[in-house]
Amino acid sequence: STVYLNGQFIPEEEAKVSVFDRGFLFGDSVYEVVPYYQGVGFRLQEHIDRLAHSLRAVSIKNAQDWQAIMDKLVALNGGGNLSVYLQVTRGSAGKRSHAYGDELEPTIFACCTDIKDVWQAGVDEVVPLKAIVTEDLRWHRCDIKSTCLLPNILVLQQAKDEGVQEALFSRDGKLTEGSACNLFLVKRGVIYTPKRSSEILGGITRELILELADQHGIQYQEIDIDYERLLAADEVWVSSSTRGVIPIVEIDGQQIGEGNKGPVWMRMFTLFSGFQRALMTGS
Ligand code: PLP
Repeated sequence: STVYLNGQFIPEEEAKVSVFDRGFLFGDSVYEVVPYYQGVGFRLQEHIDRLAHSLRAVSIKNAQDWQAIMDKLVALNGGGNLSVYLQVTRGSAGKRSHAYGDELEPTIFACCTDIKDVWQAGVDEVVPLKAIVTEDLRWHRCDIKSTCLLPNILVLQQAKDEGVQEALFSRDGKLTEGSACNLFLVKRGVIYTPKRSSEILGGITRELILELADQHGIQYQEIDIDYERLLAADEVWVSSSTRGVIPIVEIDGQQIGEGNKGPVWMRMFTLFSGFQRALMTGS
């Protein structure tokens, strides 16, 4: 496929980055993942704003027309349903040294992969997940979408090794989020989710779920969620741009609610699909 690297749209085989790139050496880089449906970015401005937040937070230059890069990359890869991975590293000084000067030029890389249009899939196609809860060993700036994903990778692998599909982080007795997703629960018809802070990534999908809840009179509260509250929920969901909103029906071997897709999830999924369809058809 065609990828973007430092100003050029080139075949992936030709894209080369220095071994001294700080993204490679230190994980000194941030990223975004943006879904495109029928060639159009979904909540694009929100993703661009979050990228700007990440870049600002780590003092990497933010002087690009991100939309132009992603739109063109998607078009060159045939439009359609694609997710764009966009990574910006601090660049390379041609040597390994922790300290950096301000003369570095960021390395900018983007590629796309096919995705399913999660919202137009019927509710029956959504496969509920099982999860484990693990200690959140990440740093305290999880609001920055950094490529330092070692803790996220290790817990997801631990989940896989234990025969389940997702890992939920717990810090100081409070659930934060999933390995690559935000966390929600439902109790007596009310949606609960941890409040935005530097302990979680401010998910674009999370934000839209809360917006839709607001618009459609579904009550929600942003609160601390401890393990007992999690296991006592009627429904648990996780959300992300590429996977949408998915029910979790078993946690640490214990069934959640009825052990199936719940009615509030069903409602939210339908609202989400409707929202996206309206955007796509302009109605
Ligand atoms: N939390 C983490 C740690 C993530 O990596 C992600 C995205 O992959 C999310 C939450 C969900 O964010 P979004 O809905 O913007 O994709």
